[in-house]
Amino acid sequence: MKKEIIDNFGRKHNYLRISLTDRCNLRCFYCMPEEGIELTENAKIMSLEEIISIAKTFVELGVDTIRLTGGEPLIRKDFGYLVKKLADLGVTLKLTTNGIVLDKYLDLFKEVGLKKINLSLDTLDKARSIFITKRDYFDRIMLNLKKSLEYGMEVKLNVVLIKGVNNMEINDFIELTKNKNLAVKFIEFMPFKGNKWDWNKGVSKEDILQTIASKFGKIEKLEDAKNSTSLNYKVEGFEGSFGIVSTITSPFCEGCNRIRLTVDGKMKNCLFAISEADLLTPFREGANIANLIMDSIKTKKYSRDGMNVTMDAEHYEKNRSMISIGG
Ligand code: SAM
Ligand code: SF4
Ligand code: SF4
Repeated sequence: MKKEIIDNFGRKHNYLRISLTDRCNLRCFYCMPEEGIELTENAKIMSLEEIISIAKTFVELGVDTIRLTGGEPLIRKDFGYLVKKLADLGVTLKLTTNGIVLDKYLDLFKEVGLKKINLSLDTLDKARSIFITKRDYFDRIMLNLKKSLEYGMEVKLNVVLIKGVNNMEINDFIELTKNKNLAVKFIEFMPFKGNKWDWNKGVSKEDILQTIASKFGKIEKLEDAKNSTSLNYKVEGFEGSFGIVSTITSPFCEGCNRIRLTVDGKMKNCLFAISEADLLTPFREGANIANLIMDSIKTKKYSRDGMNVTMDAEHYEKNRSMISIGG
């Protein structure tokens, strides 16, 4: 019988997120710790060929969807070559990016059939963008958003909401979905190593829904795809839609089908997992990593790596920083 990656709760894992780099051309304050991170040394980074071979093992175990992330995945050298090779594995390819150099790859994405792009855009205001990202790329990102839509890409905007920073823009984002087939994904602020998380700065699913309903009236609940990590809605009569990733106030772990692979070849069986399975070292020694993948999935906890009720600083400070996980 074909092996599948099934955990102790019967959840089949067919979705792999690969971090191609822990480097980034932005410095979003909720993601990158102020003091920076210790970057992975080159010898410990998966080479392109290693990424392709390890991905192939996952595909043989039933993975049919691969999302490329980072740091910023588009700054990985020879990214184009990698995308072509991964497309050859016959999987649905997806991308999460800050959009700064997206224009360089749109033709290639069309060629290999990569259509689903999550573009991180926390604000529609240039000054605020500089404040959040500590860099001045807003105009380029907006231009690349427009170009991506013209290319027919299915774009979702990822918006991490922080009170007093961008929560006043919730309805401006919703306005964008009025006449465009665009999805906006509001993400609750989550805790990772060194990001000074404080839920008092977070904006909850309930607050988001209330804010939208108070301006636009009737909100329609859409049917969520199986394994969806967001709850999806639309304002009645609007072309586009919006979703909420409520990891803090109402986690959606029941249908979790996700596995993460870090740039140094460690498998994380949950976004908040502290313990990781090193796949790269054994792979380099010629070992069969399929067994290690199966062992790791059997240690997966039901929700948030065991933080079932509250987010525990003792726990999440032992996790990586988000920039080296990739979302
Ligand atoms: N650089 C790419 C980008 O920004 O899209 C890919 C990597 S980034 C780590 C992936 C996603 O994680 C982004 O949408 C980002 O907004 C989100 N993210 C980062 N830190 C977060 C946090 N503390 N809470 C919630 N989402 C976060
Ligand atoms: Fe970079 Fe993305 Fe993190 Fe922003 S959210 S610092 S763009 S990795
Ligand atoms: Fe899956 Fe962990 Fe995220 Fe829950 S918190 S959806 S178990 S990755």
